[in-house]
Amino acid sequence: MHYFEFREGELFAEDVKVRDLVKKYDTPLYIYSSKTFKRHYEAFDSAFDGIDHLTCYSVKANSNLCILKMLSEMGSGMDIVSGGELFRTLKAGVDPSKIVYSGVGKREHEIREALLSDILMFNVESKQELEKINQVAVEMEATARISLRINPDVDPQTHPYISTGLKKNKFGLDIEQAMESYKLAQKLPNIDPVGIDCHIGSQLTSIEPFIEALNRIKSFHAELMDMGIEIKYLDLGGGLGITYNEESPPHPSAFGKAVKENLQGMKLKLILEPGRVIAGNAGILITRVLYTKKSPSKNFIIVDAAMNDLVRPSLYGSFHRIDCVTQKDAPLQKADVVGPICETGDFLAQDREIREVNQDELLAVFSAGAYGFTMSSQYNSRPRGAEVLVDGSNVTLARRREVYFDLVDLEEQCF
Ligand SMILES: *Cc1c(COP(=O)(O)O)cnc(C)c1O
Repeated sequence: MHYFEFREGELFAEDVKVRDLVKKYDTPLYIYSSKTFKRHYEAFDSAFDGIDHLTCYSVKANSNLCILKMLSEMGSGMDIVSGGELFRTLKAGVDPSKIVYSGVGKREHEIREALLSDILMFNVESKQELEKINQVAVEMEATARISLRINPDVDPQTHPYISTGLKKNKFGLDIEQAMESYKLAQKLPNIDPVGIDCHIGSQLTSIEPFIEALNRIKSFHAELMDMGIEIKYLDLGGGLGITYNEESPPHPSAFGKAVKENLQGMKLKLILEPGRVIAGNAGILITRVLYTKKSPSKNFIIVDAAMNDLVRPSLYGSFHRIDCVTQKDAPLQKADVVGPICETGDFLAQDREIREVNQDELLAVFSAGAYGFTMSSQYNSRPRGAEVLVDGSNVTLARRREVYFDLVDLEEQCF
């Protein structure tokens, strides 16, 4: 559910007419809805009411400072994957004791920064990383709380690029290696193994793979207890899917219920790392039709947003619903919605049924709140568009539109 709705044929973001936002901020324009973010966060977090838990929003889904601040003020923790994301969360005022740090390639300076901030824990993905964290902690005379990320070899039945919990994926440690690494963690002087972690993939549309992973972790946890390792946190990662088109993912409450049932009797604090399910349908991308053209075999709608603004269709072949911002009666056609970038892979939709559109009309690309702006680039030297956050009838410019100078700002050395 979201708060982007048509009223008398005009698309609104909460109480603001999208067309008015475009008049002020131009296109391409990312529009986020505060109410939707809050509603999604509440729905997710409250699904775990009754058990000790911490929701750590996955920053990489949408890392705009305004979003991080809003979620943090609602009590959310954060799951970060880089020093840059740590910087953002701290700047947004997030309490470091609610930050977990995931990712396969943490650099030494990033580890140091996280230790200095005294984050809740590192989700460690290899033996060498564990040793590195210990080494940095020794130098700093600090103790690093860690989880090891288990790769439970569960098929999340999602796109191969976003499945992470299979044996062949680069993430985490298989159960045997994890056992070895826990033994090592127990011995390393400046490491405190406090958790178990897994994250099996993204855009999951059923509960079963989560429960399968949880059950593997449960038996592993029992073994760790026998070894005298006192685990306090169980981090189940993120990955709950959303509706882009016709998917029907479980509601967070059903997910929460199933997890709670399977956790019964375990005295662990549950950590969750939702990203897409919070942000995905809380944002849209508005783009303007530049030209239309009909070739003998295809209709093209050429718009001013491209794969540098929203790469998911090009990268994963993802579906995003596209609607005209102003509804009117016109014949339907099948068309490719494409951007100006010089790549055949630059499209927002292919063979899409959409009404005939005129030059300068506005299109809304839905479900663009997660992995939209955060995956954007300046490819083809295209300044990135603006991001605005709507709350009722209030509008905040969450990130200004880039200008040409932003393209070359870091390159002045050769003159
Ligand atoms: C990307 C990621 C998430 C968030 O995944 P969603 O599918 O957006 O919920 C959570 N945890 C880790 C470790 C991740 O890499």
